[in-house]
Amino acid sequence: MRKPIIAGNWKMHKTLGEAESFFDSVKDRLPNAGRADTVICAPAPFLASLAGRAGDGSPEIGAQTMHEEEKGAYTGEVSPVMLADLGVRYVIIGHSERREYFNETDESVNRKTKSAFGHKLIPIVCVGESLEEREGDKTAEKISGQVRAALEGISAEDAANAVIAYEPIWAIGTGKTATSDMANEACATIRSTLADLYGQETANQIRIQYGGSVKPENIAELLAQPDIDGALVGGASLEPESFIALAEAA
Ligand code: 13P
Repeated sequence: MRKPIIAGNWKMHKTLGEAESFFDSVKDRLPNAGRADTVICAPAPFLASLAGRAGDGSPEIGAQTMHEEEKGAYTGEVSPVMLADLGVRYVIIGHSERREYFNETDESVNRKTKSAFGHKLIPIVCVGESLEEREGDKTAEKISGQVRAALEGISAEDAANAVIAYEPIWAIGTGKTATSDMANEACATIRSTLADLYGQETANQIRIQYGGSVKPENIAELLAQPDIDGALVGGASLEPESFIALAEAA
């Protein structure tokens, strides 16, 4: 049985004070960690403070990206060593906004995913098709290619702990959610790609999230689908009451 994982991706929102008060508001109001994992992927400047606050009854902490190297002359970047040292557990890799605005490629996503595992961070690897690709019937090809590229050279043992987030680009921040059937079909394609790479047993352990305009009103239907194990949520993860409602649906 895969444990549901509800992760908020705050993107470039909030001040430190707002981030801290969010944590104070949600503390002890989230589902027990035995039932579902809850994660907030916060902007880098807040990670130290939030990791210090996290613990029983709080979400776990994730970063939104990282560099693959441990250290070096990479001005502005954050290394996996720094994240692990703070107590960060998860890291989003290859979000479509990173691929679109910051030149991330399948190759850099693969390097970062390997590096995350090498530092005991759990990567949330994002894949998803554009509207043009969906309309051109290229969804399966696109997402299965992205999954294969991201996991190239990664062992089944590590892959079993990965989280894959299926985020159709046309559904992000647009209010257009994929129907639950559409989302499940894509997540099932991802699982069969994983089965092809690692065998069905490992594929059955890997958690696959849906992301793209997830809200308290539509999360239950999405999570009821057999291949959807959680959600990666942008806008609706910013307010404590909304995040609690999302987590309670898990
Ligand atoms: P929204 O939930 O705001 O559509 O964002 C989805 C997303 O990109 C999460 O990573």
